[in-house]
Amino acid sequence: MKVPLLDLKAQYAPIRDDIRAAIDEVCDAQYFILGGKVSALEEKIAAYCGTSGAIGVTSGSDALLIALMAMDVGPGDAVITTPYTFFATVGSIVRLGATPVFADIDPVSYNIDPGSVRALLENWPARFKESRPKVLLPVHLYGQCADMAPLLDLASEHGLKVVEDAAQAIGSEYPHEGSARKAGAMGDVGCFSFFPSKNLGGFGDGGMVTTNDPALEEKIKMLRNHGSSPKYYHGLVGGNFRLDAIQAAVLDVKLQHLETWHEARRKNARRYNEAFAGSPIVAPQAAYEDAGVRNYHIYNQYIVRVPQRDAMREGLLSRNVGCEIYYPLPLHMQECFETLGYQKGEFPESEKAAAETLALPIYPELTDEMQDYVADSLCELVAAGV
Ligand SMILES: *Cc1c(COP(=O)(O)O)cnc(C)c1O
Repeated sequence: MKVPLLDLKAQYAPIRDDIRAAIDEVCDAQYFILGGKVSALEEKIAAYCGTSGAIGVTSGSDALLIALMAMDVGPGDAVITTPYTFFATVGSIVRLGATPVFADIDPVSYNIDPGSVRALLENWPARFKESRPKVLLPVHLYGQCADMAPLLDLASEHGLKVVEDAAQAIGSEYPHEGSARKAGAMGDVGCFSFFPSKNLGGFGDGGMVTTNDPALEEKIKMLRNHGSSPKYYHGLVGGNFRLDAIQAAVLDVKLQHLETWHEARRKNARRYNEAFAGSPIVAPQAAYEDAGVRNYHIYNQYIVRVPQRDAMREGLLSRNVGCEIYYPLPLHMQECFETLGYQKGEFPESEKAAAETLALPIYPELTDEMQDYVADSLCELVAAGV
């Protein structure tokens, strides 16, 4: 048997006609940049996330960049974030000349640890004394929200803006006063990616910024179009961060299936959890599962900790099971950030996670037989110790 890490062809097959009809509308209209398709999608994403505004942009990376631009982040500013994330989270900070100041992760959720953030803020490291903390940038890694209540408290205590990197977490919920708040609706700005492998993926690159702040919404709309308003009059220097109509048309069709897909991923996760119970394979923990929220996790990735991770990965690949390491080298150890002066060993939980975790196939169309093959293969490999 062969089980890929992700099978987008299986997702496409049942919605092929709807998608092609939606793309055809754009072809017939010959209106490609922003326009009605994009604003329709923006309204639906805002409604889905529970924000007053949503702004379609070119990618998740650009969503992060434009969010920080809208907050005038630049040299002399520090942005507090996690070193255990996709590169773009931190790349956006450095591209603006600001300093990423890392706090370690919680080893269970893999998300930024509020205790580490508190320690950082209460004892600001001398080596960052030239930088003033301005933004807190938590990442909702793998599809589960970071522990936002204490993070939001810390942010308001210390006068920080909050940008949520929700690229992997569209629709993910965080319990709040007997109900739920969605990823991207809790901070000042939420950033989403429509990279094809995300739970809501386009036919190319795309992204979205969400906010409940009308002034920020207006500014981000200007920034995505070279800071112009009205056309050819530039109050700000922005860039070309515009979402295109073909992506919006595809995403609009897919959005109608998103909740079903989230549910299928959760069902797959429960099956794996049962298969791994009592074994040395550490299944991911869903922190908010018992808090009465529906999308307590959307499992963009299903991540296990396994002994001898690299050997297990090789073993699975040799059995035609797709798997991947997200991410093998924490960002404080990346060559391009050497000048920031971080050392190996500074963020032990991030470094441990990078050495011990493995992503298994979790996509909604996975069959029971495929899942059993993945689980049995991994259990056998772990039991054999190779
Ligand atoms: C995918 C991703 C991004 C970047 O999104 P792109 O659309 O690929 O630019 C940023 N942050 C995280 C955590 C991501 O997973």
